Amino acid sequence: MQVPLLVNDFLRRAAQLYPDKLAIVDGDLRYSYRDFQARVNQLSHALAKLGIEKGDRVCILSPNSHFFLESFYATSQIGVVLVPLNYRLVAADHAYILDHAGVRAVLVDWEYTGVVDEIRQDLPKVEHWIEARDEGAAAPGWTSWNDLIAAAPTTAPPAIEIDENELVSINYTSGTTARPKGVMLTHRNCYLNAYNLIAHLRVSHEDVELWTLPMFHCNGWGGVYALTGMGGTHVVLRTVDGEAIFGLIEREGVTFACMAPAVLRTILDYPNKDRHHITTTPRFTVAGAPPPAAFIERLEEELGWDFIQIYGLTETAPLLTVSQPDHATAQTDWPRRARAGVAGLGVEIELRDDDDNPVPQDGETPGEICARSNVVFAGYWEQPDQTEAAIRDGWFHTGDLAVWDELGNVHIVDRKKDVIISGGENISSPEIEDALYQHPAVLECAVIGVPHEKWGETPVALVVLRSGEMPSEQDLIDFCRQKLAHFKCPTRIEFVPELPRTATGKLQKFRLREQFWNNDRKVN
Ligand code: AMP
Repeated sequence: MQVPLLVNDFLRRAAQLYPDKLAIVDGDLRYSYRDFQARVNQLSHALAKLGIEKGDRVCILSPNSHFFLESFYATSQIGVVLVPLNYRLVAADHAYILDHAGVRAVLVDWEYTGVVDEIRQDLPKVEHWIEARDEGAAAPGWTSWNDLIAAAPTTAPPAIEIDENELVSINYTSGTTARPKGVMLTHRNCYLNAYNLIAHLRVSHEDVELWTLPMFHCNGWGGVYALTGMGGTHVVLRTVDGEAIFGLIEREGVTFACMAPAVLRTILDYPNKDRHHITTTPRFTVAGAPPPAAFIERLEEELGWDFIQIYGLTETAPLLTVSQPDHATAQTDWPRRARAGVAGLGVEIELRDDDDNPVPQDGETPGEICARSNVVFAGYWEQPDQTEAAIRDGWFHTGDLAVWDELGNVHIVDRKKDVIISGGENISSPEIEDALYQHPAVLECAVIGVPHEKWGETPVALVVLRSGEMPSEQDLIDFCRQKLAHFKCPTRIEFVPELPRTATGKLQKFRLREQFWNNDRKVN
């Protein structure tokens, strides 16, 4: 008989094998796997008592916390679909998502109940308002999570039949131009992704993972399931801050962290690293956006941490490719840090041109990354047209452009829509950004193509300077000329106070482009 691949088995196994082992560190709270499973069971019972049934949607809006970790398993073990909300969105976005997903109960961290109160009257489908808070009474109009579960049994809820192809979560993507889309992930998607993380990121029961990546982001890149599956320890970080990060690495003996590029910068800029006595050598990965190579180099060289490059999308649960520590990468000339790696186990990758034909593996012909795998999502919630546009002939089209070598190492060039075409040459904006990030005065930068009378488009860099630094435009252009072919160098540098980002921290280049294209600003 086939056993369905269900993510709640990860916690069940860990609680059986390691009941007394430390599962979660959240501030001063420390939960063993026995405690973790007990609180999860209590919430499952409590939700069922409220009338929440298999297939219903329940949302969580919270920074990283033990409550968030509990919500993953309390919902999945009773077949309920979790909708994690991005806490950086505004109230109107939350209202859209909650309504679109037809959410019946909301689990909200105390810091965010005020935001939800603003939209409460617009949410007739929501019946239950539950506040996550460790101390004190719940806000008016809210039920306390801890009170709700206090009377519920700690034993497992009655087993129900769940198919591995049923949904475990709907993760709304950040949305750059349009409304966010609900990515439907199944138990099977998430289970197999967790397997891939366990294998490729070498996750084990000895791991202590620091949660710098928000858990709402594709289930913390699937790391929640992978680490629980192996019985490792989750160390929760509520807000990204250098002192807290180094303090926790030191105190808890952190061995692993998955980060967004902005966290890398926080770590590098933290001035008091030497005050911490760190005895571990953490492995780290960067997810969700292209990590500047200069940051990774510094982290490896200054701190001696061990970098593993990964690439994927919410729609692929998310891991698609991963860098290899072994001979498969040593045989190519590309710098290791620039590569997104090779296809993970059970993932088929093809790079395709605009007519959907595969491009050669010659290290120079770009194509759109297309993937076929059991980690590819089940479609966009109630958006069949968008699903059909993204999954064609069984291949998911990612919108990312890459070149690849004969060994299958994928080197990401750009988002398809962000490539700059100047005088017939394709120019990768991250390549120019990488060069600029090597300049000590550059805090942040974004390169876009803007209209040019002669060349069609030309690269322009928008740069945020570190405070106190004042290089000239020409200084930065000259710096790029030392690093890049002449045609790739920005022809103009504009200094700006900040860059527009989505709520997940992704650069919104379309907003930068608008001012040049819509207002017909030309660069000569
Ligand atoms: P999300 O669905 O929010 O995880 O965003 C997925 C997108 O992040 C991908 O389509 C890529 O454009 C980008 N991304 C993720 N990982 C990498 C990486 N290692 N290098 C470059 N871009 C990446």
